[in-house]
Amino acid sequence: MIVAIDQNLCTGCRECAEVCPAYAIVGEQGQPQTIDTDRCVMCGQCVQKCKSYVSILTHGKKAYDRVKKERNIPDSVQEPLFAAYAVCNLDKVKEALADKNKFTIVQCAPAVRVAIAEEFGEDLGTLTPGKLSAALHTLGFDRVYDTNFPADVTIMEEGTELVKRVTEGGVLPMFTSCCPAWVKFLENNYPELADHLSSAKSPQQIGGAIFKTYGAQLEGKEGKDIYSVSVMPCTCKEFESGRPEMKDSGFRDVDVAITTRDLAWLIKDMGINWDDLEDQEFDQPLGLYTGAGTIFGVTGGVMEAAIRTGYELVTGQPIPDLCDKSRRSGFEGGSCYRAEKCNSGSGGSKKWNPGSSFY
Ligand code: SF4
Ligand code: SF4
Repeated sequence: MIVAIDQNLCTGCRECAEVCPAYAIVGEQGQPQTIDTDRCVMCGQCVQKCKSYVSILTHGKKAYDRVKKERNIPDSVQEPLFAAYAVCNLDKVKEALADKNKFTIVQCAPAVRVAIAEEFGEDLGTLTPGKLSAALHTLGFDRVYDTNFPADVTIMEEGTELVKRVTEGGVLPMFTSCCPAWVKFLENNYPELADHLSSAKSPQQIGGAIFKTYGAQLEGKEGKDIYSVSVMPCTCKEFESGRPEMKDSGFRDVDVAITTRDLAWLIKDMGINWDDLEDQEFDQPLGLYTGAGTIFGVTGGVMEAAIRTGYELVTGQPIPDLCDKSRRSGFEGGSCYRAEKCNSGSGGSKKWNPGSSFY
């Protein structure tokens, strides 16, 4: 179970059914709903939409604590808990961090550095890679890497595959395989189109595979010694990490995936004061990245990164300066292309501006 509906809390409003892309919410209006697990793609949209909750104020501490315990949520959490919810794997993360025989490597997806700030009262859109890295180091992870690095590797793979399919003849159009919910949706509903999917793993899985192989070598360790954690913006990433094929190295690429909300709970549970954190860099060398990896976190970013990479692969030339406004189209201040600079650091808190050339 990655996403579920609490039968005791669900009012049967069916607002979640309106946003479910897979028509997986089942039940009569006004009655508790269930999830058809054969259809569900674990995207978490129902979790975002649900407004029915249990809180200490509305239901009392005993009822609230019971729900918290059922869901394996840390004791310190005090916020309302909703009828639609995602699995919480923080117990596994805590266990790994406490195990001195495990070398823990954590990776963070690009979107997390923005979303995490909201959990600590910062303005919507505040970019906090430095504090995020500091929090993860303070939690005790041995290495804190940025998923932007494996995102760059993914786009080299996907870009190369796209060029090959176009120039040598292959199944087109090619669909990205980065989003596990999308992949599951296609598998469930359009299995005959599976050949259109790129064969490249998602950044999360490529990152995990690198950490268990080259990353282990860097530390003078073996893959079995590495415990790989990922912090992702999507509930389906936990499903993806558990797919049976995601262990090419002989070890699971990712041992556990948690969401941004889970990480915020963990930071609070471990008594870390977000406001007091001083910015820290992500670790190297597996934290180095270009702007192509960064823009995975915005709508259209994967496509744009693939096109940019494909351009260089085909022409052998660096892509032209896309800061030239005459080349731009699309939304105000941005474009269907976004210019990015190579960035190996974390920096401080800034506003997220996907049209900027800063990132
Ligand atoms: S997780 Fe996504 S697919 Fe599954 S029931 Fe919720 S909204 Fe529908
Ligand atoms: S899970 Fe939440 S949004 Fe969906 S029907 Fe129940 S109360 Fe409404």
